[in-house]
Amino acid sequence: MASDVLVVAERSGGQFGDITFELLGKAKEIASALGGKAGVVLLGDTSGVDALGAADVVYTIDDPSLSNYNPEATEASLIGLLRQVEPRLLLMGTSTYGLDWGGALSVAWDAQLASYVVGLSLEGSDIIATSQLYGGKLFAEAVLDGERGIVTAIGGSFPAEAGRTGGSPEIVATSATASAGKVTFGAIKEPDKSGVDITSADLLVSVGRGIGSQDNLELVQELADALGSPLSASRPIIDQGWLPKPQQVGKSGQKVKPKAYLSFGISGAPEHLEGMRNADLIISCNTDENAPIFDVAHYGTTVDLFDLVPELAEKLGQ
Ligand SMILES: Cc1cc2nc3c(=O)[nH]c(=O)nc-3n(C[C@H](O)[C@H](O)[C@H](O)COP(=O)(O)OP(=O)(O)OC[C@H]3O[C@@H](n4cnc5c(N)ncnc54)[C@H](O)[C@@H]3O)c2cc1C
Repeated sequence: MASDVLVVAERSGGQFGDITFELLGKAKEIASALGGKAGVVLLGDTSGVDALGAADVVYTIDDPSLSNYNPEATEASLIGLLRQVEPRLLLMGTSTYGLDWGGALSVAWDAQLASYVVGLSLEGSDIIATSQLYGGKLFAEAVLDGERGIVTAIGGSFPAEAGRTGGSPEIVATSATASAGKVTFGAIKEPDKSGVDITSADLLVSVGRGIGSQDNLELVQELADALGSPLSASRPIIDQGWLPKPQQVGKSGQKVKPKAYLSFGISGAPEHLEGMRNADLIISCNTDENAPIFDVAHYGTTVDLFDLVPELAEKLGQ
């Protein structure tokens, strides 16, 4: 059985995301236990390859059509590469990458697929993947006992440090080519960075659907003002147009790492946790004691936010 583990590197604006190093650290651990190599697939140009020193081998697919995000071209070239290298396991983030390509690659490469993975280990030669499902309410274990497996992992699940060690990986320029398809790259639209900047705040007050209505936002805004903190929110608040997009925390919003993150009426879905789980201190208010936000919170209360927030704002405002 094959024993190599490959990671698809995620790069934006010339920088690798933490997920690349998290997966690379995990790839090293599993590949070395299986007696194989930890490899990274680098799509598009080879800039930044020096940062991938922890890998044993870097497979480059140097094709201009891959320099910008193009799901169709990338899928075709990844399938080509997988058929050449035939690793035991392919790791991607449960990001745009993994969500776009995970299912398609598993069908085309005839591989078992585990998505939304937060834990990965080996039992003998079986790969055990733990997935976080239904907004973190359920954990499911999948045994990847076939010849080929694909795992898409949720960002923040593994330490990135393990994938940042130095070294001189072998660089292999592959002949996997991207086929021209119907999808062409248009432009990158950068998010509007004007207005409130939640990424540089030491303290964040964050609000979720538990707030109930737009009118009630005033309550948490008063608390944020009393604490001198910006107001951030989960995605439903942004989707309903109650706060601007730059104030969204999470997978499809901003990644924040304040010294303290105070959340009110946020359940703690994986996509939200991805944006804030690295905060130094997390304090959460949620009436549901089983809400997954309490799995990452350092302190929590099941008091109703409508009782707590006004009183807190009043006390702090005095
Ligand atoms: C591809 C993708 C990307 C996504 N990106 C993001 C993202 O970037 N950021 C993000 O946040 N989500 C994102 N989501 C959505 C995510 O899956 C969740 O749906 C969302 O985070 C839920 O928001 P919430 O916690 O505010 O709402 P809910 O899950 O509805 O939770 C509301 C919580 O409020 C509590 N509550 C209710 N009333 C009170 C009260 N009076 N006092 C205290 N607590 C109360 C409830 O117990 C509940 O736990 C994404 C989803 C997908 C599929």
